[in-house]
Amino acid sequence: MLDLFSIFSKGGIVLWCFQSTSDIFTPSVNALIRSVILQERTGNNTFNHNALTLQYKLDNEFELVFVVAYQRILQLSYVDKFLNDIHLEFRDKYKNELQGAQHIMDFDFKTTFDKILKGCEVWAKSQAKIPKQMRTFEDSQKSKKTVASMIERKGEEKSKKSVKIVETKINSNGKVEESPETDEDVIAANRAKLAQKLASKNKKETKKSPKVTKSPVAEERVKQPRVWALGGGARDLPALDFSTDRPEDADHRINADTQLVGQMTGAIRDLEVESEESSEDEEYDAKPSPKKSGGMFSIFKGLVGSKALTEESMRPVLDKMRDHLIAKNVAADIANKLCDSVASKLEGKVLGTFDSVAKTIKTTLTESLVQILSPKRRVDILRDCMHAKQQGRPYVMAFCGVNGVGKSTNLAKICFWLIENDMSVLIAACDTFRAGAVEQLRTHTRHLNALHPDARHGGRKMVHLYEKGYGKDAAGIAMEAIKFASDSKIDVVLVDTAGRMQDNEPLMRALAKLIKVNEPDMVLFVGEALVGNEAVDQLVKFNQALADHSSSTNPHMIDGIVLTKFDTIDDKVGAAISMTYITGQPIVFVGTGQTYTDLKALNANAVVHALMK
Ligand code: GDP
Repeated sequence: MLDLFSIFSKGGIVLWCFQSTSDIFTPSVNALIRSVILQERTGNNTFNHNALTLQYKLDNEFELVFVVAYQRILQLSYVDKFLNDIHLEFRDKYKNELQGAQHIMDFDFKTTFDKILKGCEVWAKSQAKIPKQMRTFEDSQKSKKTVASMIERKGEEKSKKSVKIVETKINSNGKVEESPETDEDVIAANRAKLAQKLASKNKKETKKSPKVTKSPVAEERVKQPRVWALGGGARDLPALDFSTDRPEDADHRINADTQLVGQMTGAIRDLEVESEESSEDEEYDAKPSPKKSGGMFSIFKGLVGSKALTEESMRPVLDKMRDHLIAKNVAADIANKLCDSVASKLEGKVLGTFDSVAKTIKTTLTESLVQILSPKRRVDILRDCMHAKQQGRPYVMAFCGVNGVGKSTNLAKICFWLIENDMSVLIAACDTFRAGAVEQLRTHTRHLNALHPDARHGGRKMVHLYEKGYGKDAAGIAMEAIKFASDSKIDVVLVDTAGRMQDNEPLMRALAKLIKVNEPDMVLFVGEALVGNEAVDQLVKFNQALADHSSSTNPHMIDGIVLTKFDTIDDKVGAAISMTYITGQPIVFVGTGQTYTDLKALNANAVVHALMK
């Protein structure tokens, strides 16, 4: 049931309009024009305003906009088709009139409109009757995702780039996407940005660092096939395609990239502060440089002067700073807190030069952020593993999170780090739900063992996989795995759990059970930095669910966070700050790419640096 349909020119002249209710739609249409059309943010064709969803189609030749409005709670599957049909029909019918300069005329379109609408409604009904077929594993993206895709191959860059271009084209022609004001849009926008960033990064890429492969731009949260480049070029392709599990693949056939070996010994390295701006001299250079002028320091230029600063004089500047932080995905209350701490440090000061302003703000922000980001308790996994070993038991880490955030990939990276440090690992395949999950871990196991063969560790096999196939009780498998590790003197157990949405009660209950019966040493929540505050919501709800569904008086909740895809967020580091601030739990690992070595520890300085940009 459509509330409004309107065709207007980009110049603002309404050519034809139909309204099924007496409601006033002008504010919603105006909002669409203001926030989308005028700002050229027309990648999406859906826009939500109040209780309405507006879907639109642009005709760039005649500079027309076709808009449909309906109640947001309705799920109308035919609107895209309807807009397309109407668009074609209207163009065909009034081509000559539209070509003329004079747009103001009486378009007699009601009969055609009704006919097309009816046709689309019938079409939607017939579509609804077609039973939905479940995709087979072979059809799914996951089946094409090989472990090989975790490592970048040089020749891959171009083809990925062209995929991106095609997608962009489709988008601008009006493919179904979310409104720019929804969370999904932020994700889509982030992903588009990521693709752009990676494209430019690839140009700069140096030979020695096997850096991030790009995540292809995706409109929806779907798994992307990965490409591994273990030791080389296209000739390795057939050998490295592990999308279907091949029992004949023995470890010795894996052509492991030995360059990675030895890079992760010792504690995890900190995230790096971008080198080109790390020089103190440059950072605090009193002369405004073009690079800095757009950054946060420029906000403070107005404070330079010979008078002592007061709360009032700083207010406008602090407001701007808060907006700047919020724009970087920092939650509003945390942004306020950070602004307050800067204000209290600056009040009463006479800031003669821009130089001193920059220094004071940087020091203040760093202090506050270090406080927020510093773990409340010591996290030293290698030491804890050693301690557990001394007690004659394995150290157990469980990984949880929603689907596709990078649980298995980062579990494999952590596994690599552990074996680099001579800890033997048992991976417990407790995702008994998603087709391909066990195979994915099996392939990781093979690759990790190929990187660290038994011979290197005195005949010890470094990575084992404990799997019981699909459909079984995950808590039970985890328990058996821990027992197996204990009996076999394996140092660490990494429990991979099935991805689940934070609002799915039965699945959250199952996770709480897994944690309760197995009491892991560390429950890690895996969240994507890419989705910003959505990750914060997931984390809060996971934590809450673990508390709610545990019958214990002292429930085991999330102990730490793995923040993945940090390489994709540009400088929008706010999620990292919000996640630690809200839960008080540390970010133990940061995933910064798709190779085994792309695992870092959070560094408050790097975060501050990104915030200042
Ligand atoms: P799971 O369903 O949570 O187990 O997710 P996967 O481990 O299968 O990862 C989903 C996708 O995210 C894969 O394409 C990974 O390569 C990718 N991914 C995981 N971690 C990172 C990361 O830190 N950076 C980037 N750029 N991609 C990542």
